[in-house]
Amino acid sequence: MPSAVPTARETITKFTNCRILKGDELVEQDLWVSSGTGKIVRNQEAFYSSHAVPDHTINLDGRIISPGLIDVQLNGAFGFNFSTVPEDPSTYGKVLRQVNKSLVQTGVTSYLPTLTSSNKEAYHQALPFLGPSGQRRLASDGAESLGAHCEGPFLNPTKNGIHPREVLVAAENGFSDLEDMYGSENINPTLDPISNAILPPRIRKITAAPEIAGITSAISDITSRGIVYAIGHTEATYEEASAAIAAGGTMITHLFNAMAPLHHRNPGVFGVLGLAKSLPRPYFGIIADGIHLHPTSIKIAFNAHPDGFILVTDAMHLVGLPDGVYSWNENSGERLVKTGPSLTLEGTDKIAGSSITLIECVNNFLNFSGCTISQALKAVTSTPSAMLHLQGVKGSLESDADADLVIIDEEVHENGARSLTIDQVWKFGSKVFDRDE
Ligand SMILES: [Zn+2]
Repeated sequence: MPSAVPTARETITKFTNCRILKGDELVEQDLWVSSGTGKIVRNQEAFYSSHAVPDHTINLDGRIISPGLIDVQLNGAFGFNFSTVPEDPSTYGKVLRQVNKSLVQTGVTSYLPTLTSSNKEAYHQALPFLGPSGQRRLASDGAESLGAHCEGPFLNPTKNGIHPREVLVAAENGFSDLEDMYGSENINPTLDPISNAILPPRIRKITAAPEIAGITSAISDITSRGIVYAIGHTEATYEEASAAIAAGGTMITHLFNAMAPLHHRNPGVFGVLGLAKSLPRPYFGIIADGIHLHPTSIKIAFNAHPDGFILVTDAMHLVGLPDGVYSWNENSGERLVKTGPSLTLEGTDKIAGSSITLIECVNNFLNFSGCTISQALKAVTSTPSAMLHLQGVKGSLESDADADLVIIDEEVHENGARSLTIDQVWKFGSKVFDRDE
C-alpha cells in the first residue's frame, strides 16, 4: 500500500487547566502536542525560554487527558466483521477505512483487528489489509492498526466458544504449519518495495492453546518475530500453561473465558498469575461487559496482578447496531442474537463476544472494583502498550510519545456510580472528534 506524508502546516496546541494521566496518578500539568510531528512536544521549557507561543491554547476546565485507548481484541465494528472477507475482496480495504474513522470516535485510537478462527484462504485475503499502519501517520485515517491478532485456528476444540470447530487444527509441523496457515508474508517481516525498509509482520499477536500439538514448541519462533504469543481457548493445566510462559508466552486471552476454572488442586491457566519470580507473570485480557465475568472475578484478577490487567471489548461487528438476529458464519448458517451488550449464538446460550465499547468497559471496571480512575485508564493505555512493547510510543503522555489523546469528562451520579465520557479525541496531534460539534 502506498505511504503518504502529512503535508498540513504544523500546529502546536497547548492544553491547560487539565489533569493528565502519568503512571498511577492524574497530575495537574499542561500538555503540548504538535500536529507536524504527531507527537507530544518534547521539553516544554524550551518553548518558554525561547518565548515561543502555541498556535492554540485549550482550557479544559479540570477535565482529564488520557492517552488514546488501545483495544487488543476487537473482532469488528459498525457492521464489518474483520474475519468475513467480502465477495469482492478488493473492497475490504475501503470498508476497513470507514470502520477506522468511526472507531476513533469511540476513543479507541489504536487496536489489534482480531480474526476469529478461519480457513487459510480467509487469512491470506484479510491479513494484507490488517498490518500495522506504520509510517502513514495520518490523523484523518482514524483508528490505527498496530497489527492483526489471530485468535485461532490452533485452539482446543473443547473450548472453541463460537469458533467453528471444523476449521480448528493442530500444528503437527510446528511453526511451518503457522506460516502455511497465515501466509509466510503475514507472519514474517517483509521488505517495503518502495523504501527498502524492513516492515514488521502484519500479525502482532497469536492466541493458541499450548496443549495443541506443535504450539508450545513454536512459541519461540513466534516471539522472535516480535509477535506476542497468548494462551487461550484452552484446556491447559497449570503445568502446561507455565511451560508456555517459560517458552516466551506473555499474554492470556480473555482470562476465565474458554478455559478450565481455577481448581484448588489444579489452578490451571489462572494459576500462572501466581508464578514465582523465576518466570514473568503474563498480561491478561478481561472482558468487563458485566456478562462474560462476575464483577468479583474481575476484582480478584486485578488484585492478583494489577500490572498485567488489560481491559478488552472482544466486541463483534454488531457493536453500534440495533438489537436483532444477524448472520455470522455463512458456511454453517449460524447466526448471532444481539440483545443490548449481550451476543449469543442463535439457539444456544453460548456467549458470542460482546457488543460493548472500550470506555463502557472502563466505566464498568471503575464501578465493579472501586479502583481509581488512573488504574482503570492504565488498563486500556499503558498496560496494553507495554504488552505490545510500545512503551513511550503508544499509551503514554511522555515527551515524544505519539499524540493520541482522549479528553475525558468525569461524572459521579446520585447513586454513587462513576462514569467517564469521551469529550474529544486527538490523533497524531490533531482533533478528530468533538462531542460538542
Ligand atoms: Zn475468544
